[in-house]
Amino acid sequence: MQEETIFDKIIRREIPAEIIYESDDVLGFKDINPQAPVHVLFIPKKRIPTVNDMRDEDAERVGKLFLAARDYARQVGVDEDGYRLVMNCNEHGQQTVPHIHLHFLAGRQMLWPPG
Ligand code: AMP
Repeated sequence: MQEETIFDKIIRREIPAEIIYESDDVLGFKDINPQAPVHVLFIPKKRIPTVNDMRDEDAERVGKLFLAARDYARQVGVDEDGYRLVMNCNEHGQQTVPHIHLHFLAGRQMLWPPG
């Protein structure tokens, strides 16, 4: 298992973050370097470094990231206009923090394909 990351410190409230969602399994907080008017990250409280490290028994835990995103979209009123959910993996995916996180991006027109 890899070393813990800055996200574990956010979970333990050792470093500040603007927390917008919390449940037993999931934490949601604003991205420090937002790429859209709304940019938050949903993370499992249990550290899973990358999607490659997911076990079958993590499926429900990871599914809860999407349910949190669904509820947050409704809460901030972007569910109808839409939003983008992204989970990066390793170098080519440009994952920089090895603790899986679901990016929630909204508030502007997204482009496809991504760069
Ligand atoms: P990724 O490149 O997919 O691994 O995304 C990592 C994200 O974490 C980036 O969008 C960063 O801006 C964000 N990030 C890094 N440190 C913090 C922090 N202390 N608080 C909030 N977001 C952070």
